[in-house]
Amino acid sequence: MTDASAATGHEASWTVVGQHAAVSALASAVASGRVAHAYLFAGPKHTGKTLAALQFAQALNCTGDGPPCQRCRQCERVAAGGHADVEVITVGSPCDESEHRHSADERDIRICQIRRLDRLVTRAPFEGRCRVLIIEPADLMNDAAANALLKTLEEPPPRSVLILSTDREELLLDTLRSRTRRITFTGLPQAAIERALRDRWDVEPGRAAELARLSMGRLGWAVVALHDARMMEEREEALARAEELAASSLAGRFAFASSLGGGFTKDRRHVHRVLDAWQAFWRDLLLIASGREDQAVHRDRLDRLRPLASQCTVRGIVGALRSIADARQQLDENASPVLALEVMMLALPELRPNAVGDRPRP
Ligand SMILES: [Zn+2]
Ligand SMILES: [Zn+2]
Repeated sequence: MTDASAATGHEASWTVVGQHAAVSALASAVASGRVAHAYLFAGPKHTGKTLAALQFAQALNCTGDGPPCQRCRQCERVAAGGHADVEVITVGSPCDESEHRHSADERDIRICQIRRLDRLVTRAPFEGRCRVLIIEPADLMNDAAANALLKTLEEPPPRSVLILSTDREELLLDTLRSRTRRITFTGLPQAAIERALRDRWDVEPGRAAELARLSMGRLGWAVVALHDARMMEEREEALARAEELAASSLAGRFAFASSLGGGFTKDRRHVHRVLDAWQAFWRDLLLIASGREDQAVHRDRLDRLRPLASQCTVRGIVGALRSIADARQQLDENASPVLALEVMMLALPELRPNAVGDRPRP
């Protein structure tokens, strides 16, 4: 395997694909015993941050040779999600208040959840050597939670490690960032993803190439898509919708903003996946419009994308991409979802529909 052969020394038993600098920093911290109290795992979604955090937790507690050995009881307990000293604090995870019932539909990580973390870190580890608490996505802590965490980081308890994982570190307080050791994760080259899919997941070459292209550097996305046919369908639908909306009237756009935004509280992830697909759509138009068609992600749709791109200026497309990014930020900041999406719709350039197989514009 390429990744294992590229790894040297302490990193040999880590299975995170491609993140050599990150893995090397973590493995040498374990080997040298110079482990920081708090880490910031920063980098795009689906690039191995969660797996790296869990393998770090294994390595810190491992009793075998070449940690994480994946064979000792400590490694196995972490991998199975049952280790008493390793916990992920996320949206909807439990707190210590008996009357609270948190759920994954909530918008943020709250102070009661961080208070639980604070209680856990001040206790000695229960079944291993080191307590590892992972906050993910750390950018979803609300202000009260972030400030409570800051207090914990000011007096870090011994034998505990906190990991703040995020793909949007600009949303974290500077004071939090400055108290953590940064570990950077990067998007992977398409070839590395393709190879990993073939070698580790036994994906046949054609499909591996397609998924690698669509993944835009995120191996985790490709692996999920491999097992979840709905993800590909949802993406196809979102792309078709992006194309349709680019050519639809303002009334049509607002109607869609209202239905998509109306479902945000119930299923935030769906809305973000739709925005991911739209971003990919406009990004492809940008590549085509600027003469870099060979880098486009949706090669199977080039015939449809070319005539759309030919109607756009690079500046108009950049504006569309920016408006999608702004809408995401507004959603993160708990603005009205419908309003955020309507503002985005206003900024998307209006194109003529593709001639073939399209309904005329209303
Ligand atoms: Zn082990
Ligand atoms: Zn609570």
